[in-house]
Amino acid sequence: MFNPSRLTLARLRLGLTRPKLANASGVSLRSITDYENAVREPSDESLAKLAAALRVPLAFLDRDDIDPVPVRAASFRKLSKATVARRNAVLASAALTMEFFAEVEEHFQLPQPSIPTFDKCSPEQAADLVRHQWNLGERPVSNMLHLLESKGVRIASLNHDYSDIDAFCFYRDSIPYVFLNTGKSAERQRFDAAHELGHLVLHSDVDMEINTSKDREAQANAFASSFLMPSSAVLNQSMAGAGVERILAARSFWKVSAMAMTHRLNELHLLSDWQYRSTCITLSERGYRRSEPGGIVPETSQLLRKVLYGAGARLRVRDLAAELDVEPAEVREYVRHLVPLSA
Ligand SMILES: [Zn+2]
Repeated sequence: MFNPSRLTLARLRLGLTRPKLANASGVSLRSITDYENAVREPSDESLAKLAAALRVPLAFLDRDDIDPVPVRAASFRKLSKATVARRNAVLASAALTMEFFAEVEEHFQLPQPSIPTFDKCSPEQAADLVRHQWNLGERPVSNMLHLLESKGVRIASLNHDYSDIDAFCFYRDSIPYVFLNTGKSAERQRFDAAHELGHLVLHSDVDMEINTSKDREAQANAFASSFLMPSSAVLNQSMAGAGVERILAARSFWKVSAMAMTHRLNELHLLSDWQYRSTCITLSERGYRRSEPGGIVPETSQLLRKVLYGAGARLRVRDLAAELDVEPAEVREYVRHLVPLSA
């Protein structure tokens, strides 16, 4: 049975408008509109054309509905007009990725979610409380992705054609999902993961209203900064007035970007505003704004690696793709840069 919502989902995930799909498939705009609105059903010929243009097996369009991820359920860092179509594409892919995790869960027992909620605290207090609750002491977090996965967070890669869309997260049926833009530097990715953790801890009850998103973003950044670089430990490192070399050593210790480290030192009044600005200029000249020279290797997923490559019981990408009625390339997108590519 043809399912109109699957057609819409397949189209949105590629960022296509209906006219663009009409062009790409050779099926008329009028017909596509009718099919998506369930006014009439496509012929076998039209279905085949649409499936080919959408790069999905025919069976994909027969599957059950998936609950869409509502915009207001997700935390987005940027929301300009230009990104709305791309945001919808990312959300459509996210809905499919949840189906992927549901399939994984048919075969594997995944960690139970255990993310605390501290929605009445300041971001700094909340970060300290989470560190305390998870027994992290004041050490650098060795691996943010492994940490979040061990706390039941399902981590996936967001649709990669959209490099201007940052990480986002949401709860669905009490399960926290985090989608990362995995094309970034390792340090940026770690900060993003900590930022999304901040949303989960601070904003789990909040409808992600666009009007107040600026405040939420600042709070999640403050959380990430405190979580990755706890104040008492940084204050003990004799960093007052630190020069660039000292800052670079500290960023390697905490596994953050040189820019984030510098920002943190200013936040803790270890660098004056003037020192902060001049350090930023120096770092920028040395390439630390766009990338992270001498940085760490990007973190990858432990959970997905076990599922896809584990010894003994495992799910191959092509088997998962067959279960989900998608192309293997689609499944590889869900886990892009989070596991080795050769599955
Ligand atoms: Zn955010």
